[in-house]
Amino acid sequence: FRGRKLVVQIIPFENRRQILVTHDATETERIEAMRRDFIANASHELRTPLTVIVGFLEIALADPGLDAPTRTAHLTLMTEQAERMQRLIEDMLTLSRLESDEYLLKRERVDIAALVEGVAAEATALSRGRHRIEFVVDGPDVMGSADELRSAFANLASNAVRYTPAGGHIRLSWTRGPNDLRFEVMDDGIGIDEQHIARLTERFYRVDKSRSRETQGTGLGLAIVKHVLLRHGGKLAIRSAPGQGSVFTASLPNTSLPG
Ligand code: ADP
Repeated sequence: FRGRKLVVQIIPFENRRQILVTHDATETERIEAMRRDFIANASHELRTPLTVIVGFLEIALADPGLDAPTRTAHLTLMTEQAERMQRLIEDMLTLSRLESDEYLLKRERVDIAALVEGVAAEATALSRGRHRIEFVVDGPDVMGSADELRSAFANLASNAVRYTPAGGHIRLSWTRGPNDLRFEVMDDGIGIDEQHIARLTERFYRVDKSRSRETQGTGLGLAIVKHVLLRHGGKLAIRSAPGQGSVFTASLPNTSLPG
């Protein structure tokens, strides 16, 4: 029982005493700590853009005669920060929906070819011609939630664009593995040091905060991917080497094949 926090009762029984474990609090406490961390992180993430907005509003109130170009510059910065808050709140709502038991998983036939093509088109738009992006679909349709899978795959593809310098190469593929179905995103971007890999799906965990922020990241993308895959009975595997690139593999069980 080392390291665990157990609630026990000692009960006399035929002149001997026996110990009854009534409750194991270890897991409850771990979840409670995660919840506290999440609230602290989320508050901090929201406070930063809000501080910028309040600052510019104070300037505007103190100096109503600001010249037009300065005013426009301030409004642009405020809009960017407000949009950042919007993205954070959207992602937090998505995560909480994915976690809620009441929000049942849809089981519809997902047109995988259309989905992957759409995700590739989005990634191409985000890249603005700075990367070579290709995709292959060589596997069957699956049963699941098209919306959730689209959001998971789009997160992986947009990360590849955001963490690959201009001139890089990104490849999306949907294939059938020996025991599963796989959506794989390969890039030859900045890569990730080994020590970070296990923690990437934690909420708000980022290797490089400023790069994530500059590219409009919320730090919640991979947490969303992980939850979508869990709900579909699948999982995420990450292989990466700093300076060489990364491969993110989202695998779904064969049981998701249309019957
Ligand atoms: P973010 O919004 O910060 O991108 P994510 O949860 O999507 O949040 O990713 C978490 C972190 O994982 C990122 O901040 C980045 O450090 C790292 N990461 C994700 N995808 C890649 C990738 N393709 N190449 C390099 N690093 C990546």
